Amino acid sequence: MRKGKLFVISGPSGAGKTSILYKVLNNIPGIEFSVSCTTREKRKNEINGKDYFFISKENFEKKIKSNYFLEWAEVHEHYYGTSKEFVNMKINEGIDLILDIDVQGGLNVMKQNLDAVTIFISPPSYEELKERLVSRKTECDKDIEIRLKNARWEMKEFTKFKYFLTNQSLNDSIKKLESIIIAERLILEKSQYDDILKKIIGG
Ligand code: 5GP
Repeated sequence: MRKGKLFVISGPSGAGKTSILYKVLNNIPGIEFSVSCTTREKRKNEINGKDYFFISKENFEKKIKSNYFLEWAEVHEHYYGTSKEFVNMKINEGIDLILDIDVQGGLNVMKQNLDAVTIFISPPSYEELKERLVSRKTECDKDIEIRLKNARWEMKEFTKFKYFLTNQSLNDSIKKLESIIIAERLILEKSQYDDILKKIIGG
């Protein structure tokens, strides 16, 4: 049976990753969102268990010690991490998964030989990123400053990713990400050979 594929979306906070993903997950069947754990405060519009598992710092640190995470990172002064068990379960069920993780997380996943498809989503410019972070009004001034400072080193890592997408227009970025997923799914894998032959010529 074909295993699920891992799609890793990384890029600076405010580049628009979550807005793009929200639409793509609605439009493409057979792909799910990997819900991360975080110690940051829940925003008004967020749902525990859907957007994130909001947990305490103590709980997060316990999970680090028990090797619960596939990857974890301290991002903008909070912890964020991806459950190893959840990812393995979905992949083994043949379900594709999208990880919306920061650049450190993306680089960590790359080191693990999971054959992940890595996609870097960039803002059109630093000025535009600043404007987006200010206008979405989800962070205070101090947090915006931290996110903008981190964006500078995060941008420098883009060369390590397989795909690079500039999020100039939301609709255009949605189409591009969908195209990447569709094309990656069409790559022929050895594990499929027998199934294909059986289906077409019966053996
Ligand atoms: P936010 O607080 O805006 O939801 O997310 C801040 C950053 O943390 C974003 O860049 C997001 O992609 C990243 N992030 C979310 N979940 C994870 C995770 O499980 N691991 C890592 N490394 N980063 C994450």
